[in-house]
Amino acid sequence: MAISYDAIVIGGGPGGYTAAIRLGQLGKRVLCIEQERLGGVCLNWGCMPTKALLHVGEVIHAARDLRAMGVEFGEPAINLAGLNAWKSKMIDDLVNGIATLLRANHVESLTGSAELADAHSVRVRTKEGAIQTVEAANIVVATGSEPIALPGLTRNGTTVLNSDDAVRLEALPKRLLIIGAGVIGLEFATIYARLGCQVTVVELLDRALGETDLEISTLLLRILKKQGITVHLKTKAAAVTVAGERVSAVLEGELNEKREFDAVLVAVGRRPRTSGLGLEKVGVKLERGFVVVDEQRRSSVPHIYAIGDCAGAPLLAHKAMKEGIVAAEAIAGQAVAYDPMAVPNCVYTDPQVATAGLSEEQAKASGHEVRIGRFRLAALGRARTVGVSDGMVKIVADAATDLVLGVHIVSPTAESMIAEAVLAIELGATAQDLGLTMHPHPTFSESVMEAAEALHGRAIHIVNQPAAPAAAR
Ligand SMILES: Cc1cc2nc3c(=O)[nH]c(=O)nc-3n(C[C@H](O)[C@H](O)[C@H](O)COP(=O)(O)OP(=O)(O)OC[C@H]3O[C@@H](n4cnc5c(N)ncnc54)[C@H](O)[C@@H]3O)c2cc1C
Repeated sequence: MAISYDAIVIGGGPGGYTAAIRLGQLGKRVLCIEQERLGGVCLNWGCMPTKALLHVGEVIHAARDLRAMGVEFGEPAINLAGLNAWKSKMIDDLVNGIATLLRANHVESLTGSAELADAHSVRVRTKEGAIQTVEAANIVVATGSEPIALPGLTRNGTTVLNSDDAVRLEALPKRLLIIGAGVIGLEFATIYARLGCQVTVVELLDRALGETDLEISTLLLRILKKQGITVHLKTKAAAVTVAGERVSAVLEGELNEKREFDAVLVAVGRRPRTSGLGLEKVGVKLERGFVVVDEQRRSSVPHIYAIGDCAGAPLLAHKAMKEGIVAAEAIAGQAVAYDPMAVPNCVYTDPQVATAGLSEEQAKASGHEVRIGRFRLAALGRARTVGVSDGMVKIVADAATDLVLGVHIVSPTAESMIAEAVLAIELGATAQDLGLTMHPHPTFSESVMEAAEALHGRAIHIVNQPAAPAAAR
């Protein structure tokens, strides 16, 4: 007879393990099924390995930069085996930490690939081929997403890579072509360029980083160019061919030329991992492969929930974790809902980009008359103390009410600065509130206060633009 649970969570990534832990905290009998390793893409292939590699690149770069500050090192040398061993140990520690947390919260774990047998039972196939069926009153689908491949460009892990290969870092290609200037493409561009590779990025669209505020993404591209990372917009990698250890590509658009590379990284987006789960068979509605959910993360079958990447954009770990909590609390009968006004989005390039809320274009398109406040890092004392002058904070506010609609940052530590912006938007703060709030000196966070003050023509450390009437902007 099948064992019965209050809830079964399929997938042990940030969405799934968070849901399982909260369900355990709420006293539910819960089983978490993971086919590979706990932690999902975030710990094993995404957030954590990329940030570790970015950190190493940053240290190498800083060691070189320090010469200008009178500190001499020998030329840094990369020992790939040592770097990979350090990264693997860090990931193993984090994965083991999740296993400990699951145990501590009385969550049972099962390793195997799950599919719905019917609306309340899940069939699990272990790696050894054994099959087990388990039942639950509620099911949480947290199966995540996987990289999209380009037709005709078959991944081989050496010359044709996707993001899973790129974090393994088994070799450093001398010349790397990256297809796609989204978050993942630009983070890998930063990693590989910092580790000494020649990086070329091509992007089909006329902008990088998708819907990110255009002024911000354009500024980032200018800064990356100074670092030797060139992003060719409106450019298609056509006729990409692989012969032995060589990749050749015709770059059509801005360039129109044939170039040779040592590897190509396909970073053109991700798609939900929902096929083969038996979801549609039991009546769960999908749209373009994503599970359609309501504010409590319930699917069209009320006791089946979906969270994280498989339940729609933005594909971010913190969104998956938040949804895991909402689904768990909804299962426990609590009155919760997921309806954020601002989901922070960080890009770990150098400098980092972090955004929350509406871009200037989105604010205008949704009918707002906007006021913009800008503060450039060139005027920030703290930035100068670490040799940085490129970057800015841009605040988009509603001209009539002064409500903060969006905050967009290009700066070191942007990843942390953006939390203030999320809170401001969620609490309905005005630009004046941000400007009146005392910020510690000297810090990068002062640039948020200064940008808010600049919006009203009152910033202290820049010459303010005359405050034009809102209608003229
Ligand atoms: C290179 C890269 C860098 C990233 N960096 C960031 C970042 O800095 N910040 C950020 O917020 N996000 C980042 N992301 C995105 C982030 O990793 C994902 O949004 C997050 O992992 C989604 O969590 P999830 O729980 O929905 O799914 P996943 O992490 O994909 O986990 C799903 C889990 O379900 C398991 N699974 C799937 N099908 C089954 C099945 N049938 N049976 C059992 N188990 C199954 C999978 O093995 C997987 O472990 C990055 C992604 C990539 C690729």
